[in-house]
Amino acid sequence: MRKKIAAGNWKMNKTYDDAMGLATTIGNAKVPEDVTVILGVPYIYLKEINEITKENRGVYVSAQNVHQEESGAYTGEISAPMLKSIGIPYVIIGHSERREYNCETPEVLKKKVRIALDNNLDVIFCCGESLEVRKKNEHEIYVKNQIEKSIAGLSSEDMKKLTIAYEPIWAIGTGETATPAQAQAMHKAIRDYLKELFGEKIADETAILYGGSVKPSNAVEIFGQVDVDGGLVGGASMDPDSFLKIIHSF
Ligand code: PEP
Repeated sequence: MRKKIAAGNWKMNKTYDDAMGLATTIGNAKVPEDVTVILGVPYIYLKEINEITKENRGVYVSAQNVHQEESGAYTGEISAPMLKSIGIPYVIIGHSERREYNCETPEVLKKKVRIALDNNLDVIFCCGESLEVRKKNEHEIYVKNQIEKSIAGLSSEDMKKLTIAYEPIWAIGTGETATPAQAQAMHKAIRDYLKELFGEKIADETAILYGGSVKPSNAVEIFGQVDVDGGLVGGASMDPDSFLKIIHSF
């Protein structure tokens, strides 16, 4: 049985009091037994929110990024051993905003995935195509290529700690969502590709999340697709009522 996951990505939002308030509301909420809730929060709140969420079975905290090197002269960066040392369970790697604004290449992302796994972090690996790619009908090959370049060489043990988030860039923060059929088609293509790379068992066990303007009004239908195992949610994860509705949409 694959995990059902509702993951939030707060990006660079929320000052301290608001962040603690939101984390406390979600941390104290009743979460369905079979749903894993993950809060992707800014680095400076990780430790404190981890303490809050640790109280609630099923709610976890995630970093939104990690540096690809172990340590060294990388001013302003945060390493995987640092995240491990404060008990952070998850890290999001390869979000399209970081690929674009921080020039994160597939080769760098491959290193980030490796060092995260080596430090016992669970990885949410993001992939997804631009509108330009989608219009050319090259989205499948594009996403497979992203997966191939950054995670193809992982072992079966590694894959047990990896979740994929398919996030078409044209649907992130735009209000435009992929149709349930479009999401299902891509998730199936990704799962088929995982089968080629890692075999049937791993492909069947790997959770694949959809991301791109998920909200309470569309979550039930999207999460109801056979190959969609939940969502990575930006905007709607920062409103407690909306996110709780999404958590209950499976
Ligand atoms: C995201 O940040 O990964 C995302 C999918 O954002 P939104 O839900 O706001 O489109």
